Order: sequence, then C-alpha cells, then structure tokens
Amino acid sequence: MSDPTISTFLLQHAFETSPGEAIAFDADTLRIVLTNRHSRTNLQYDASELAGLTLADICPDHDIRDLQDRLAPLILGQVASVPLTLTYRRKDGTSYEAELGLSLDPGPPSVVLAQGVDATALQSARRAARNAANTLIDAVETLPDGFVHYDKDDRLVVCNSRYREIYTLSAPAMIPGATFEDILRYGLANGQYAEAVGREEAWLQERMAHHLDQSATVEQLLTDGRWLRIVERRTPDGGRVGIRVDITDIKRKQHQLEMAAETDVLTGLLNRRGVSSFLAAAAAELTAQERLAVLHLDLDRFKSINDALGHDAGDHVLSEVGDRLRMHVRHRDVVARIGGDEFLVLMQTRLTDEQLISIADRIRHDIARPILYRGRQCLVGASVGVATWDLGSAHSFEQTVSDADIALNLGKRGGRNRSELFCASMRHGTVSNALLAQQIRAALNAGQIIPYFQPQTSIDGSRVLGFEALARWQHPDRGLLNAATFLPAAEEAGLIPDIDATVLTQSLGFIRTLVGAGVDAPKVSLNISSAQLADATLHPRIVRQVEAFGLSPAHLRFEILETTLLDERAAQAGETIQNLARSGFAIELDDFGTGHSAIGSLRRFPVQRIKMDQSLVRDIDQDEDSRVIAEAVIDLASRFGLEVLAEGVETTAERDVLRALGCTAIQGYLCAHPMSGQDILQWLKQRNALPDRSATMFYNPNLASELQRKAKNGP
Ligand code: C2E
Ligand code: CA
Ligand code: CA
Repeated sequence: MSDPTISTFLLQHAFETSPGEAIAFDADTLRIVLTNRHSRTNLQYDASELAGLTLADICPDHDIRDLQDRLAPLILGQVASVPLTLTYRRKDGTSYEAELGLSLDPGPPSVVLAQGVDATALQSARRAARNAANTLIDAVETLPDGFVHYDKDDRLVVCNSRYREIYTLSAPAMIPGATFEDILRYGLANGQYAEAVGREEAWLQERMAHHLDQSATVEQLLTDGRWLRIVERRTPDGGRVGIRVDITDIKRKQHQLEMAAETDVLTGLLNRRGVSSFLAAAAAELTAQERLAVLHLDLDRFKSINDALGHDAGDHVLSEVGDRLRMHVRHRDVVARIGGDEFLVLMQTRLTDEQLISIADRIRHDIARPILYRGRQCLVGASVGVATWDLGSAHSFEQTVSDADIALNLGKRGGRNRSELFCASMRHGTVSNALLAQQIRAALNAGQIIPYFQPQTSIDGSRVLGFEALARWQHPDRGLLNAATFLPAAEEAGLIPDIDATVLTQSLGFIRTLVGAGVDAPKVSLNISSAQLADATLHPRIVRQVEAFGLSPAHLRFEILETTLLDERAAQAGETIQNLARSGFAIELDDFGTGHSAIGSLRRFPVQRIKMDQSLVRDIDQDEDSRVIAEAVIDLASRFGLEVLAEGVETTAERDVLRALGCTAIQGYLCAHPMSGQDILQWLKQRNALPDRSATMFYNPNLASELQRKAKNGP
C-alpha cells in the first residue's frame, strides 16, 4: 500500500467493493475504523453507526481477553495472518458466523484487517456433514457385513467391528493408516487365507491385482472354513470402500446343489455331469506315469428284468450293481451311472491294459452273481468297454468315454458278456446304432437277412435231431455277419419282430425242401423274442403260415427265454406260448443255466426240451463247478421228463463228459457250424442222411416267398 502510484481513492474503492466482508479495527482498542459495503449490509449498520463501535460490540458472544490472546502472535509480528471464526451480532440481534483471515497493518496506529465471508451456510453444511459421517459410521457399525474404507494411498481409514471379527487373524494389523498390502501380509503370515497356503506370494499378487482392479467380485475362503464375497468400489477421491459378505451358508447349499446335479439319485453314484467334472480334474493332475482309464459297463438283459418284474426290481438291480461296482475300485476311483443301465468306472491309474481287462472281467463276473429281489433271483450280465488316456494321447481326454463306448459296442456285437479294450482302429469301423438300424431295415427289404441252420444231433452224432435257425446278414461289403453283430441294434430299433418273421418264413421254406428231399420229419428250432410273443396275432399267423407251406406244427420248435415268461403282467406272452403248445408246436427253454431260464418255468409252461447254455458246457471237462451244475440240470430235466440239449459243444472232451452225465443231445461246432440251407443239404448228403432220390432234390431259397405270397392271397 505504500506504492505511491496507487491513489488512496483507488485503495478505498477496492476495499469498499471487495467481494467478502472486510472490517478494520484498532489493534489495541478494538475500535472499528473501517468497514466495507458487504459487512455493513450483513450487520445492518451504516458506516457512521459502526464507526462508534468496537469489535466487542459486534461480537458479544466472544470473550474479549480470549480474542486478544488469539491476536497476540499477529500483533507481535510472529505470524503473517491468523485464521479465525467470529460470531457477529447484527443490529436486529440475530447472529452469523464469519470465517475470517486476520492480517496486520503495523501502523502506527496498528490496525487489524479481518476479511472473510458469512459462513453460516457453510458451517451448518459442515455440521450436517459431521452428523452424517457419524450416522454413517453408526450405520456401518451395525452392518451385518464387514465394511472397510481405504484412502487414495490405500491406507486404512476405517473398518467396522464386523470386519475385524471376520478377519480375526489379521485384525491386529488393522490400524488406521496401515496399507492394504501390510494388512494382507500380516494375515498371510498368520494363516488367515485358506487358498494361499503354500503359495503365499502368488496369492498375494492375485489378491492385490483384484483389489486394484475391483471390477470383479471375488470369493475368498478363510482357514476357518468360512467363505466371503468381496465387493470393492473406488470412491470419487480415489480411495476404496469394500464390503465382506459371509457366504458360507450359500456356498454350502450351492455345493449340495452341485452334488445333487452331479449325482444319480437312485444309486448315489456320479451322473454324466459328475463324470465330466471328475475327468477334467483328473486329467489336470495326471502325472506322466499315470493314465486315465474308463470302463464303460452296459448291463445285458436288464430290460427284460425291468419289463418282467417291474421298475422296483429294476431299480433294486441298478443300485445293487452300483454297490458291487464300488467294491472293485479304490477310494479315489469313481463309479458313475450315466444312463438307464450304463455305468462308468473312472480311474487314475498305473495299471497295464491286461490288468484293466482283468478288473473288467472281475467286475463282469461279480455283476453276474444273482441279485435277490423279494425272494426272486434277478440275473443280469454285463459287457465292458475299456479305454485309456495319458498325457501323450493325441486326442482329448473327453473322448475317452466315447472310446470306451465304441469298444463296448463292438464287444457286444461280438457276443455279450465280454470285456473289450479300445484301439484306435475301432473308431473308423463304428457306425451309430441309429445308422445301423437304418441299414438293417434296408437289408431286410433287400433280402440280405437270412437264416443259417445249425444241426442238432444225438450225443454220439449218429442221428440228426433238428436244426436251429440263426439269423445272418449277408452284408454286401462286410460279408456274412453273425446275429450277435446286429441284433442288439435291431432290438433297440424294434426290428426283431421283422427279423423273426423273415427267419420264420425262410425256415418254413427250408423245411419244405428237406421234406421234399425225403428227410424224415425234419425239425427247426426258432428263436422267438418277447416282443413277438406279446403280439396276440402271432399264434394264428404262424398256424396259417405253417398250413400254407403244407407243413405241420411238429416241424417247429420255439426257443424262449425264461425272462419272457416271468412277467405276470405280460399275460399275452404266456398265452401265446400256451396256444402254440396246444397247437402242437414244441416249446423249449433257451440258455438254461444262465439264470435267464429257471426251474419255475419247467412247471408253469409246457416245455419239452431245455437247452443247456454254452457257459455250462465250456470246459466242462476241466471245470468242476460247471460239471456239478450240468449234472444237476440234467438230473432235474430227467425228473421232469424233459430232454436236455447241450449248446456250444466244441470238443470231444466236452461231449464225453456230457455223455457221462446223461445228456442225450448236442449242438455246437463239434458237429457243425451254422450253415446256409444249401450247405445243410450238402452236409446231410455227405453223412448219407438223405435217401437216394436226393439227386433230384434241390433247394430253392425263393420257394419261401412264393409260398408266402400264396398264403396271403389264397392258393
Ligand atoms: P443262441 O440262441 O444261444 O444261439 C447260439 C449262438 O451260439 C449262435 O450265435 C451260434 O452261432 C453260436 N454257436 C453255436 N455253436 C457254437 C459253438 O460251438 N461255440 C460257440 N462259441 N458258439 C456257438 P449267433 O448266431 O451269433 O446268435 C446269437 C444269439 O442271437 C442267439 O443265441 C439268439 O439268442 C439270438 N438270435 C439268433 N438268431 C435269432 C433270430 O432269428 N431271432 C431272434 N429273436 N434271436 C436270434
Ligand atoms: Ca437259441
Ligand atoms: Ca442258447
């Protein structure tokens, strides 16, 4: 102000119009010497009125001594300015708060200049903010969740007690001003975080990254087993607030749900979904010395149990199979049920192929043991496909399950009750069952499905007792296919009745030829499925057809499985069998001794002959058990006055034992393989089983269809 170029007028004008309130008073007497427009307006005094007053007059709420003390450092020149809040009293008696900066003109006389603004609004806003902050802190304190606030330097500002309770082990480090990382490290050192154990530094880096990123919600497992959900957000000033929600209960329910979603309710085994999770986890931790092994197991003839005894029996069988499977695996291996009667055994193992197959075989044998249901014995078999995966495999581990499936299906086509190891070449040869069904349908139409006939002879082979008709597929590319290759697919597609029908018609034609060739009372055995027997029109149709061929029921035998008869609800099957028997057809029980045919049926149905299953015949000369059972079967049959035919006799040794046991009839490779009708004629001729006029006899495979046409249209 000592600048001579600035006039006193200018200075006074600047003072008078300055934006805030300005009051100058004598430093000693506190008498007001100058005021500006804003202060006068707010105080409601005019200039002359104010000129007579002191600071004490307009600040009656303040202690003057106290004010003077506050001014002392300024007056003594110790500081350049003093901040001060004064409560000014207006002329009308009301007050307001002014936030001021005080400075000194040393004079003489020394004058203090108080410049500032009416801070009433500001002060009440501040008070409100303080209240709000307190309310907020109270609120935060009562939150059921942990709350924490870090400033822009990531230092702890505040956290609630719940937060400290949650992180008991880190709590001692939660001092305002401590950084987030410090607190985290303290917690790590004290074993706060379950997922960090053994990888502390890596865990810390991840956690820090999340904390700084804050876009994702993080879930955290503590060593006491509790789960937290962490939500953190940036505040406008660059700090962070965070919430910790205890989600232990939610996690537990979620886990239960996951378990439920991955568990088969009936057996308690894993389901298909569970298999995927297990495989993924196992593949991830597989070492170079180990492999994943998948045993895919499919029950044989489960459907007939379900159909015959009802779903409760079926369910019982499935859970029993599940229990038995579990007995064959170690604790860490997994058993799953992935569909109706399909199971998987999953192993992380060092076993060789041979050892795996031998486990599969053991499992099959165990499954084949009778399962008791309400006093009844249920017998199922199993086929198993085995596939493995290791770190060197070219394909993905997920494919192992379908590889095992391929092996299983190929195994089944080669005859049920087998264990088959997958090899890569199988993958190319497989067609889906759906495609196969389509091909079988086409084969039926193209006349590629034909019966082969296998001779049945007396035990010494001297007399031909009859022939069993067995379906064959003359495949244009793959050659002659056995029934077992395509019947399972045909069964699934519901094509068995069509196959049986064509086998029946062609067999009738074959018998006609034999009759024509002078064979005395030739007999053919036909396999007849449950699906066929359930058809009420079957019996009259067969009778009509036999007549149309000019044959009699004595020419035919029907081979049935006991499971077909078991079903009390399938009254039709029983009735069809009774009707067939009444019409003079012979009924025989197939696969006797496997449990699929049993003693009960011998009484209830008009059975004439039983066919002892090949499983009892095989190695009967070496296997004491088979011998004892076969003997019992033959004994039993003789008591019921039934014949016994032993199936699948391959060696003279087997035949000799059977003869010693009293068996009178055999069928099997020892005598003859199944052959075409034409080859049977040759075979008979070689055995001199045909009369001399055989020279004039010929076999006409089309005879069947010609005669059938006649049967339909009338002669
Ligand atoms: P199955 O009735 O037990 O027929 C005997 C099976 O054993 C036949 O297999 C036959 O070729 C085979 N076999 C005969 N002798 C021997 C032997 O000495 N050793 C060995 N290892 N096997 C022998 P295939 O033809 O593959 O038939 C399998 C099954 O398919 C049959 O078992 C039968 O249940 C069913 N099947 C065959 N043809 C028909 C048919 O036209 N209709 C119906 N519904 N089922 C049929
Ligand atoms: Ca048979
Ligand atoms: Ca059989």
